[in-house]
Amino acid sequence: MNHFQRTLGSLHAEKIPLDGLARAYGTPLYVYSAATLRRHWKVLDRSLSGLRHLVCYATKANANLAILDLLARMGAGFDIVSGGELYRVLKAGGDPHKVVFSGVGKTDEEIAFALSQEVKCLNVESGPELARVSVVARRLGLRAPIALRVNPDVDPKTHPYIATGLKKSKFGVSVDDARRLYGLAAGDPALDVRGLACHIGSQITTVVPFLDAIARVRKLAGELSRAGIQLRHLDIGGGLGIQYKDENPPHPDEYGAAVKGAMKGFRGEVILEPGRVLVGNAGVLLTRVLYVKTSGRKRFAVVDAAMNDLVRPSLYGAHHDIEQVGAEPRPAGTVDVVGPVCESSDFLAQGRKMPVPEAGDLLCVRSAGAYGFSMSSNYNARPRSAEVLVDGETAYLVRKRETWPDLVRGEKARPAGRRFPAPRRIG
Ligand SMILES: *Cc1c(COP(=O)(O)O)cnc(C)c1O
Repeated sequence: MNHFQRTLGSLHAEKIPLDGLARAYGTPLYVYSAATLRRHWKVLDRSLSGLRHLVCYATKANANLAILDLLARMGAGFDIVSGGELYRVLKAGGDPHKVVFSGVGKTDEEIAFALSQEVKCLNVESGPELARVSVVARRLGLRAPIALRVNPDVDPKTHPYIATGLKKSKFGVSVDDARRLYGLAAGDPALDVRGLACHIGSQITTVVPFLDAIARVRKLAGELSRAGIQLRHLDIGGGLGIQYKDENPPHPDEYGAAVKGAMKGFRGEVILEPGRVLVGNAGVLLTRVLYVKTSGRKRFAVVDAAMNDLVRPSLYGAHHDIEQVGAEPRPAGTVDVVGPVCESSDFLAQGRKMPVPEAGDLLCVRSAGAYGFSMSSNYNARPRSAEVLVDGETAYLVRKRETWPDLVRGEKARPAGRRFPAPRRIG
């Protein structure tokens, strides 16, 4: 259920017609619906009622301050993967005590920042990282709250680029390594063993892989408990899929019931790290058709949004529904919807059966709230798009469109040089 619906022929975000937003703020334009986001949050949170739990929104899905602020107000914690994300969460008023820090490549600086902000837990992904966390904690005179991210080796049956819990994956440690590392951590006064974490992938459309993963980490938690290491929380990651096209992902109620069943008898807290399921269908990307051209038997709609704005189709071959915003009569046809970027992989849709648009038409790219703007770039020197949050009849410009001067901020063609003289050889 989302609040992007057609009223009197024209597509709206809640109470506001999308064409009005496009005229006011220009295109390409990301539009988010506050009511949809709140609804998704409530449905997921309620599905876990009765279970002691904390939902830590996966910041990387959409890190706009307005999105983080809205979720923080609903009581969300945050899953972060960089110091920059922690900075964003703090800026948005998020509670660092509800932050878990994942990621395979945390730097000393990031570890120190997280520890000094007293985050809830660092999800450690290797032996060498565990050692670094201990060193940094000792240097700061702190005890680092840690969990090990375990790789449960289950196949989430999703796109290979977003499967993270297989043995061959760069993420987490194996169950065998985890046993050894928990032993080390428990004996290290600079480390405070809090929990166990896993995250098996993204856009997962059945509950089976989640249940497999939970069973495996619970088994390990049981062994640790018998060895005298009591875990206070189990973090089961994110990854619940959404409907982009014809997927049939479990409803959050089904997912929540399955999680509750699988966690029966666990006395600690359950942490979840959902991203996509909260924001994916709470956002759309508006784009204007610049040209319609034919080439041989192919027809292209060249639009003003490109792979730098929304990379998912180019990166994963992902499907996003594309709709006409207005109600102009258009004949049905087959269209490649492409952007202006100089790459053949720059498309939003290929061979799409849809009403053939005309130049000037406004199109709505659905399900763009997650991994949309957050993965956008300045490739081809394209300023990044603006972002608008709609709440009822009010639109908030939550990120200004970048300008050309923004593109060169921090650059200098002929800066003052700094010499690094070569050391002189002696003898
Ligand atoms: C990306 C990520 C998530 C969120 O995944 P979704 O599919 O958006 O729910 C959660 N945890 C970790 C560690 C991640 O890297």
